[in-house]
Amino acid sequence: MKEKTAEDVSKYVKQVADKRGWILHPNDDGTLDMLVDGLKDYYNRVGYFNCPCRDSYEDMKFDRDIMCPCDYAQPDIDEFGRCYCALFLDPDFDFKVEIEMIPERRPEEKW
Ligand code: SF4
Repeated sequence: MKEKTAEDVSKYVKQVADKRGWILHPNDDGTLDMLVDGLKDYYNRVGYFNCPCRDSYEDMKFDRDIMCPCDYAQPDIDEFGRCYCALFLDPDFDFKVEIEMIPERRPEEKW
């Protein structure tokens, strides 16, 4: 398997955002870089883009719902304006509001 670089992953998340009509975290505090790095590390270790904010089973069968973009991203963006990690945001996201933790939508038995 060819290792992904941060540039590969940045390109991937940009494509996802464009395709889904979302925007990326502005990276004013380094969050975007950190999440891209987390996705890269997971990919190079387990072979898929496991959510960088969640633990991985390291088995695609069990992690399918949290492969980025996860199954919970759209409902979270609809309700809170951002995905769980705040990698993807609604284009109308209000940047005056502090980005806080949102509830985990993944069923608890899968944590
Ligand atoms: S919460 Fe965001 S970063 Fe994490 S998998 Fe879902 S879409 Fe990707």
